[in-house]
Amino acid sequence: MVAVMDAEQFRQLGHALVDWIAELRETMETLPVMSQVRPGEIRARLPVSPPEHGGGAGDLIARLEADVMPGITHWNHPSFFAYFPSNSSYASILGDLACAGLGVQGMSWQTSPAATEIEEVVVDWLRQMVGLSDAWTGVIQDTASTATLGALICARERTLGFAPKGLQQGDGALVVYASSDAHSSVDKATRLAGFGRAHLRTIATDARRALRVDALAAAIEHDLAAGLRPCAVVATSGTTNTTAFDPIDGIADLTERHGMWLHVDAAMAGTAMVVPECRTLWHGIERADSLVLNPHKWMGVGFDLSAYYCRDPQHLIRVMGTNPAFLRTAQDGQVSNFRDWQIPLGRRFRALKLWFVLLDEGVAAIRTRVRRDLENAQWLAGEIKAAPDWQVVAPVALQTVCVRHVPVDLVEPAISAKNLAIAHHINGMGHAYLTPSLLDGRQILRISIGAERTERVHVAALWGALRAAAATV
Ligand code: PLP
Repeated sequence: MVAVMDAEQFRQLGHALVDWIAELRETMETLPVMSQVRPGEIRARLPVSPPEHGGGAGDLIARLEADVMPGITHWNHPSFFAYFPSNSSYASILGDLACAGLGVQGMSWQTSPAATEIEEVVVDWLRQMVGLSDAWTGVIQDTASTATLGALICARERTLGFAPKGLQQGDGALVVYASSDAHSSVDKATRLAGFGRAHLRTIATDARRALRVDALAAAIEHDLAAGLRPCAVVATSGTTNTTAFDPIDGIADLTERHGMWLHVDAAMAGTAMVVPECRTLWHGIERADSLVLNPHKWMGVGFDLSAYYCRDPQHLIRVMGTNPAFLRTAQDGQVSNFRDWQIPLGRRFRALKLWFVLLDEGVAAIRTRVRRDLENAQWLAGEIKAAPDWQVVAPVALQTVCVRHVPVDLVEPAISAKNLAIAHHINGMGHAYLTPSLLDGRQILRISIGAERTERVHVAALWGALRAAAATV
């Protein structure tokens, strides 16, 4: 029998891997941002069957180099402008390493008290960082999608009064409302929570792409008149496409009047609230029942770490709690058992990486980094507005800039085709990576600034690349 890795080999390989990661980070700028492999190319490098005999750990780094690296898109690259910033800083990597090294499964307080208590502290620190009152209690989830699903299940149970027959009891159907620009996770959560796709109302937005409160009020009244039961609104603070902010105060007037649940999806923009001057954007947040924000976007904490905050953790526990005999412990009643605050039973010690990031960077430096990104976005928007044949097509509330090349000699659909070609050209060259998106059916170029190492020089280089691509394609 071949012995598995021993402590000495682990030490050697582990040090080598840390060196390898540091070297990768130091030289990343020379690599293509978006992986250039074709579908199936990575899979074809591996044997079809698993190794019958081990002993191959000494090759791990060589395997990473040969089989993995060509298929990596570099989210930590300073010219990553696609989707949303999602970085893992060095401190976050070490937090994940410590988490794996400790190998903790933190389903109950007793299964590792530190996992629960450090999480309680760091989510409370995060609450303070984004200016939320102490009426909120937080818990870490894997993703915003899971948190929003949990919120809608909580909403459902509150409206149903925990009726044993649940949604099968046959009264008027429960309805969920969100803006037409809400993230697809809202649609998914509505289906998964059993409301049914037909009971998600997508509410029209205004010129700033924020949910129209008058349209929401009309939709609620219409549903009430039809004998349906308005249950929840998911408001978005920072929509995915354009970082639009729904008017939480106006929405809360309606949810409070009709006894509805208000969940706020601040997955992306939550990090901005570390900067006090951004907080007017989610004015009214204290009137929500729950909210989610993602330190695994923009804050520098590696994926996955979402923070879910609610005003009534006892309600959450009533919805999610289970109490089989084998999970009972002597401390129940005095401690939090986070298995009862989430959908899965088991949970990793994710709080470590958030803690390490805060220890390493501190709140002031995160604030400085967020302000740098906000300024870079305004700078780019200013350059584009001043350039002939270019437009900024949505308000730049934070760090996302939605633009369009509009040559005078072209009309739709040629303009859309040209913009798509510009995106493909830039992404294919590998120097930068941005997202081709659609706004009102028209092709746009969506530039999301905020990778940890993105400085003005990288944004300026992207602007140069955009103009060069427009002249080439
Ligand atoms: N909500 C918003 C506004 C988002 O921008 C995103 C991701 O882009 C999500 C939710 C989904 O996030 P997660 O991957 O954590 O589920």
